[in-house]
Amino acid sequence: MRKGTIVENLNAVRERIVTCCRASGRDPASVMLLAVSKTRPAVDLRAAYDAGQRHFGENYLQEALEKLGELADLDICWHFIGPLQSNKTRAAAEAFHWIHSVDRLKIAQRLSAQRPARMPPLNICLQVNIDCEESKSGVAPDRVAELAAAVAQLPNLKLRGLMAIPAARQDAAAQRQPFARLAELLQQLRAQLPEHPLDTLSMGMSGDMEAAIECGATIVRIGTDIFGARD
Ligand SMILES: *Cc1c(COP(=O)(O)O)cnc(C)c1O
Repeated sequence: MRKGTIVENLNAVRERIVTCCRASGRDPASVMLLAVSKTRPAVDLRAAYDAGQRHFGENYLQEALEKLGELADLDICWHFIGPLQSNKTRAAAEAFHWIHSVDRLKIAQRLSAQRPARMPPLNICLQVNIDCEESKSGVAPDRVAELAAAVAQLPNLKLRGLMAIPAARQDAAAQRQPFARLAELLQQLRAQLPEHPLDTLSMGMSGDMEAAIECGATIVRIGTDIFGARD
């Protein structure tokens, strides 16, 4: 995509975040924009970086590692947001700053064991299957507390909060329901694990960003509205 278009799109998304925060009585600085760059060439990420974007989200490990190499000269904070298989945890633990998609203890244990000692703890969100869909990854809502308690014990991870990808819904009121439930789950975790900095709700994509912000999102993951429609 043209660099100018990416910059315009990015600025439009930033404005939407500010407008939505103002309307819902939130500080715009409390919402981080994660640019979801899966399937995009490194040059598109560079265009967004030049316009001030620092946080990028990738779904596919092999593709992400190639881009990390191509963009090694940039000061990017890399977030892994896709499904993570256990044979890929080492590369993820070595390359990323955040993993949003932890939904099993085994994956978390491997990430902790494989996080290099010279690096700070890996930031972790637990992915919740908030609509309990057969086809989707994520821990079931009624198993979140148990998984969080175990993940919080792991030495090289920093449990930050929860992530979800709800089923698609058309109107804003319906979109808010799963986001409100995720926010409630985070509140319960905070009470359960008071010594942990559970400050993150990773929720909201191009089609439901405003609903997510209204419900307390602290990271919105936006691909299409920045980089255009994927094939
Ligand atoms: C692709 C993707 C996004 C971005 O979705 P858009 O609708 O393109 O904004 C966000 N989160 C996850 C986990 C994704 O896989």
